[in-house]
Amino acid sequence: MIFNKQTIPMKFVCAILFFPFFIYSQDFPQDYFQSPLDIPLDVSGSFGELRSNHFHSGLDFKTKGIEGLPVYAVGDGYISRIKISTFGYGKAIYITHPNGYTSVYGHLQAANGAIQNYIKKKQYEENSYEVEMYLYPSELPIKKGDVIAFTGNTGGSGAPHLHFEFRNTKSEEILNPLHFGFKKLINDARKPVIQGVVVYPLDSTVVNNSQKPIEVNFSKQSDGSYLGTKIQANGKIGFGINAHDFCTNGYNKNGLYKVKAYVNGILYYQYDFDGFAFDESRYINNFIDYERFHLMGQRVQKLFQLSNYPLSIVADNKKDGTIKVQPGANYNYRVELYDFHNNKVELIIPITFLSTETAIKKEIKKTPYFIKAKNEAIFEKENVLVQIPENAFYSNFYLNFDVANDILTLHDDSVPVHKNITITFTEAKGYAEEKLAKTYIASLDGYKLDYNKTFRKGNTFSIKTKTLGKFKLAQDEIPPRIYNVNFVEGKTITAQKTISVFVSDLQSGINTYNGYLNGKWILFEYDYKTKKLVHNLEDAICIEGRNDLKIVVTDNLQNSTTFESYFFR
Ligand SMILES: [Zn+2]
Repeated sequence: MIFNKQTIPMKFVCAILFFPFFIYSQDFPQDYFQSPLDIPLDVSGSFGELRSNHFHSGLDFKTKGIEGLPVYAVGDGYISRIKISTFGYGKAIYITHPNGYTSVYGHLQAANGAIQNYIKKKQYEENSYEVEMYLYPSELPIKKGDVIAFTGNTGGSGAPHLHFEFRNTKSEEILNPLHFGFKKLINDARKPVIQGVVVYPLDSTVVNNSQKPIEVNFSKQSDGSYLGTKIQANGKIGFGINAHDFCTNGYNKNGLYKVKAYVNGILYYQYDFDGFAFDESRYINNFIDYERFHLMGQRVQKLFQLSNYPLSIVADNKKDGTIKVQPGANYNYRVELYDFHNNKVELIIPITFLSTETAIKKEIKKTPYFIKAKNEAIFEKENVLVQIPENAFYSNFYLNFDVANDILTLHDDSVPVHKNITITFTEAKGYAEEKLAKTYIASLDGYKLDYNKTFRKGNTFSIKTKTLGKFKLAQDEIPPRIYNVNFVEGKTITAQKTISVFVSDLQSGINTYNGYLNGKWILFEYDYKTKKLVHNLEDAICIEGRNDLKIVVTDNLQNSTTFESYFFR
């Protein structure tokens, strides 16, 4: 649901639960907006889809595997925000519409016309590829159907596509774009598909001889529903599912829209992806079985909530989804999975009480460092200090903490972290000043060192992290590489449209990149995926005759490399 529950009296909540479509058809305009693309809409990412550390905040539309398709304003309004960043949304444009909604277009190749000129002017003013601007309504007004940009693959995009998002302009809540009349433009007659089912023995329950979560076998019946094999348990249990949805013609695994779980016909758990707030998105790590995801790469969504956490897609539930299996009782567990087009698949699992021998025992590795998730904690050994704020974790557990051979072991990545943990290495000894200046706290991934943004005070170093694992002090003294420039030094390059080089950095990564033509700053667009820096010669900074090019690239520890060359025009 998309309403703020705290402010709505209970009787209205009930009314909303009973008449959701009535409310939506009233609230969301169905014929106001047009498609952002002029090709059939092919969804490669759905709203709320389970991603790394977040729920997908929009729809991804395929762009035939290419870049450069026109992107249309879906409605009248004005460009209210533009953000150009190397990571994340890449080049993104926000249009605020007069009816209270903002549409967002991400991973763009370039903006169009006056918008592109506006961005470029800002980039040259700030001498930066990455820029962010908030605009007044009068600056770049937009009419429905205007070509605002071209599709691309910028930022954290794995293949050319358009990321398309809807927000409530005032609250900034992210809304399912399919509520805004786009549903009819998408072909989906296929039901969701269940790939796996897991049963979780909770507390000290034994399920089918196991205290550990086990997979439930199931088979498809003639009516298209799934039937699971009977569960035998002697206490509290919960279920998890690994499921996807497919559009009619696509092979992309999309997320579900709605899930409802019933026990003997009574609703025990429900979620639906109508909308959520950005600061809820990280709760995905509690929504899924994070340990299983870490170990097996499977995103199993838990259909129960052991602790109350403020994830609004499930927050309305009166029951927590767990089932207390009692002697003499039989239960019929039924799950309904829906996509946005109301295609539904059902899974039925019979449950019976049986106290069996425990063949597979739950192993709890006890350590002296028991974490109570609600409390803050501080651990210290040798010259390492770890500060954990309250509610950094979703549940209590025994943390593995040690410092040996200058390496901090702070558990492993099987436990999700919700809030920043501060790690401090104090008084690093035996380093000269030049070495201290190149020192950072690295995460150890096997033998690989991953850079963390490190704060230094004298010989004390600290980082904030949301990933557990091994950490150590490391040095990066190797400057970045600049290579494969796309012209021959001293040649005349009249036909060429761009100047490009590749940049790479072994350890801490690229931090800054600046290009100059004849001493004047020029814009280089940076794509971290291809490692390429590209300057468009149509920016018209180069002059007739000899042009001297200089490119300076630094890494995150201020190791710097300068490339110099010249060409004629
Ligand atoms: Zn996306």
